[in-house]
Amino acid sequence: MLTLAALREKPHTSISALRCYQSCPKKHYFTYIERAAPAFRPLALVLGSAWHATIAEHLLRSGQGHHAPVEEVRDHLRDGIVRGVEGDAVPVLFEEEEQDISAVVDAAMDMLDVFLAKVPIPERVHGVEVPFSLELVHPATGEIHPVPLVGAMDAVVDEGGHPIVLEFKTGKRRWTADQIDYDLQPTAYMMGARALGHDGAGVKLVLTTKAKKPDVQVEHLVRYRRDEHELVETAFAVARAVKAGVDYPNRGWQCRTCPYAQACGS
Ligand code: SF4
Repeated sequence: MLTLAALREKPHTSISALRCYQSCPKKHYFTYIERAAPAFRPLALVLGSAWHATIAEHLLRSGQGHHAPVEEVRDHLRDGIVRGVEGDAVPVLFEEEEQDISAVVDAAMDMLDVFLAKVPIPERVHGVEVPFSLELVHPATGEIHPVPLVGAMDAVVDEGGHPIVLEFKTGKRRWTADQIDYDLQPTAYMMGARALGHDGAGVKLVLTTKAKKPDVQVEHLVRYRRDEHELVETAFAVARAVKAGVDYPNRGWQCRTCPYAQACGS
């Protein structure tokens, strides 16, 4: 299997692109068709990247009965956030609660401490940031989607002797019941795990909340074949709409933090 970066060099779609189209077709146009330069990068994106890289490092360096040294894991996260904020010409949009990098790092350290205290080391780590590429076959017509769906599973591990895909998230809020039932990402992970030979793999959400008192939400996510069909049908429908030039603006709360608001006329 190619690396995720190599897979992304070829034409493809992704869960992020589908979600983007669902939230605002105009934003999808700016991001994926015009590839317009964003006015800023959301802080959540920077924190998410640093978080994933740090948890991956933690899992790879820990094993049954031993943890990677906590100070080194904390340093990894701190360095990742600083690099993410300072290492790109596109500025980061800070949030109301944290107006500078040291406040962001402090909040992230609190989150990491809670994560390390509450989330056990898996029995076995098969891989982290495991890339996959799925050929999408329409469940009703048998048509092949013009491009594959590409992504990477945060970690594939064994728990109780069974393969599990771990999905590490950070967020201000816990996932709602609707996200637990309908989010597209776990469906793609399940399909990706099967394609890589991890038959029957479950998906577990491990969400660390960014709050004054951070916490970890753990949910076993259940998906059925009908959810996979719906994901594939959604990819076909989005591809048809994009090809037809359907890129209307969907104005709402999401415009307040949209990096294309100026270009969009908001
Ligand atoms: S400003 Fe709003 S309507 Fe315009 S692209 Fe962004 S999210 Fe869509």
